[in-house]
Amino acid sequence: MRLSYTIYRLQCTHPFGISRSSHDYYDRVFIYLEQDGFIGRGEVAPSERYNESIPQILERLKNKIILPKNVTNVDEVIEIFDRYTDGIKSFRSACVNALFDWWTQKNNISLHEYFNYYGKIKNSTSFTIAIGDFDELAQKVKEAKKYKILKVKLGIDKDKDIISTIRKFTDKPIRVDANEGWDINTAIEMSRWLAEQNVELIEQPLPANDLDKMVELKKNSSLPLIADENCHTSSDIENLVNKFDGINLKLAKCGGVDEASIMIKTAKKYNLKIMFGCMVESSIGITALAQFASQADYLDLDGNLLIDNDPYNGLQIVNGVPVLPKGNGLGLSLIIDYQNKFPDLK
Ligand SMILES: [Mg+2]
Repeated sequence: MRLSYTIYRLQCTHPFGISRSSHDYYDRVFIYLEQDGFIGRGEVAPSERYNESIPQILERLKNKIILPKNVTNVDEVIEIFDRYTDGIKSFRSACVNALFDWWTQKNNISLHEYFNYYGKIKNSTSFTIAIGDFDELAQKVKEAKKYKILKVKLGIDKDKDIISTIRKFTDKPIRVDANEGWDINTAIEMSRWLAEQNVELIEQPLPANDLDKMVELKKNSSLPLIADENCHTSSDIENLVNKFDGINLKLAKCGGVDEASIMIKTAKKYNLKIMFGCMVESSIGITALAQFASQADYLDLDGNLLIDNDPYNGLQIVNGVPVLPKGNGLGLSLIIDYQNKFPDLK
């Protein structure tokens, strides 16, 4: 098996702002694994919040990786990736997802079938309105016309103004993500106010370090609370019971589709709702998690919809609902125009 990679710059349609930062573009590393005529693909979407970065990933990739010449079982390769990626979750995710994409193509099966997740995807995905220019809100709501649910980034001092402005243009359900931007009193007050604005839930109201305060907030919140920065892997889940109503599962946080599958089972065991989230990613990353989307209560799989140069065809949105591509593995295909323009893409 051969590993190769390339860096690709995703251009945001609008500057993407959250309570912590704003970006016009994101650099990503695409990982390719090849053997027997099949290409497995994975995407590294490093998280600044967890001190991951593209230079750090590239530095690691300089270390030569020795993969078996002829891979015949995935477990031995996962062990190699566990050592090679050294705890960098977004990096592990890309390597492991590429491996399962390759393995399932080779075995003539889709990734979700391999993990035994069947069933149709029923839930609509939300579409994110990030923090940015107030004057652009009308335009952003217009651009979100195709999507049935909005996700709005809050956690700054103009939160009510943002929601009130959006409410002038649409009455669609809204999900709010405070990205750790509130204290407990603000969160209680905002939950009551937001509940009257057809807001469905609140994601990560308090800083992750304030997890203990979530018991009190959950008792007093008028809306369901979803853990994002407080939930990385399956081992975090038990401790979130009585503090949150659900978890936001992201591949870049948990380290790949194998761990994502364990998180789904663990969250269900503890009766927590499951949201699928993402980074700003191309269709490689988005389609990987979407393979399990029939299992999620809430979908926020819009990372590839926030960019205007996605080089792959993968997950499509039909009437607001994600539809998986047909085909084995992830079902991805490289768009020919991008192949011509960026010869390192595979
Ligand atoms: Mg979030």
